[in-house]
Amino acid sequence: MFDPKLIRNDFPILSRQVHGKPLVYLDNAATTQKPHHVIEALRRYYEESNANVHRGIHTLAEEATALYEQAREQVAHFIHAPSARSIVFTRGSTEAINLVAQAWGRWALKPGDEILLTEMEHHANLVPWQLIAQATGATLQFVGLTADGTLDLAHAQALLSERTKLFAVTHISNVLGTINPVADLIRQAHAVGALVLVDGAQSVPHLPVDVQELDCDFLVFSGHKMLGPTGIGVLYGRPELLEAMPPFQGGGEMISNVWLDHATWNEIPWKFEAGTPHIAGAVGLGAAMEYLSALDMAAVRAHEQSLVAYALSAFERLNHDIMIYGPKDPALRGGVIAFNYQNIHPHDVGQFLDGEGVAIRAGHHCAKPLMRRLGVVATARASFYLYNTTQDADRLIAALQKTKETFSVVAHR
Ligand code: PLP
Repeated sequence: MFDPKLIRNDFPILSRQVHGKPLVYLDNAATTQKPHHVIEALRRYYEESNANVHRGIHTLAEEATALYEQAREQVAHFIHAPSARSIVFTRGSTEAINLVAQAWGRWALKPGDEILLTEMEHHANLVPWQLIAQATGATLQFVGLTADGTLDLAHAQALLSERTKLFAVTHISNVLGTINPVADLIRQAHAVGALVLVDGAQSVPHLPVDVQELDCDFLVFSGHKMLGPTGIGVLYGRPELLEAMPPFQGGGEMISNVWLDHATWNEIPWKFEAGTPHIAGAVGLGAAMEYLSALDMAAVRAHEQSLVAYALSAFERLNHDIMIYGPKDPALRGGVIAFNYQNIHPHDVGQFLDGEGVAIRAGHHCAKPLMRRLGVVATARASFYLYNTTQDADRLIAALQKTKETFSVVAHR
């Protein structure tokens, strides 16, 4: 039985106070809190098994290597990858996308080729493609949005052509919360011979993702957004693509043999892991996946969907003072709700809410082109996760009501 009240007990930080009030943490799209299980795995790793991986012949090095490679197996299992060979550890989603842009892009793209993106991408799934387009002569195309913040699917279909070499698309928007129909988009892209990279930064932590069922070519996500440590992330790639792609960075670990003037490459996935990796990070991510699997990702999704439905209807208590971005139907959105409140600047809203113990985010959310498309410079954003409750949503609404009262008093002085 999925019980967020019991789950909260696993997260020590959630029992702290902020400005004398119990913390309500609603900034989960930025990063998530860590359960005892993850903190304990990190502590145990450093206290008992810390060593560098792959190169040592002593017991600690063997233990560290086994733990690191076991984490890779756990990741493969979590996203139902056919083998751990297809799992590359990176620093996060951003580095994973840069890896594909640089390694695959430099090798595969030429002038006249097109990279298809959407108007709702995070800068992490935009700027790496701008850089590689400039370097290769490929051009960028963008799928537009409908009025309710979903992808314009007819536009996507119209833009896909034999010139499209890659479609890089977010699974869930970190601003609009929109869940994109990636399985259909992948089918359509494959029909014209394009590869598909799915930005799973906001989806893998929140709902079941099966790379074989989706049939994506690349999937990226970040450990810190799914209860794991910062500085560790994942690139899933089809093994045959990873085999064919040249390396991303050079250095130790990614080589098979080295001469003064040239080198040969290690097997995948290590070909893409130059230098000492974030071993403890991988171990912590493995523990986070154990924790999430025990809860069941379908239950995590169901909880968030009902919480967002509750929050969206609770927002109605604020009458017409609030502008909410993205689809109205909770079935079409993840746990992210971006909004603007009266004419109060989102930074002021965020600061006032902090005073009430409620942590939200305010700003452009690394999606400046989307902000322009929405006609705003910034929004406030509340984002929910498995440990949030309807009481958290109520605290948010109550704090917003108080914000309005305070600001209208100030405005009338
Ligand atoms: N893609 C999306 C949709 C995101 O929301 C984020 C982070 O907010 C990223 C990519 C980048 O993730 P990271 O900063 O962990 O590399």
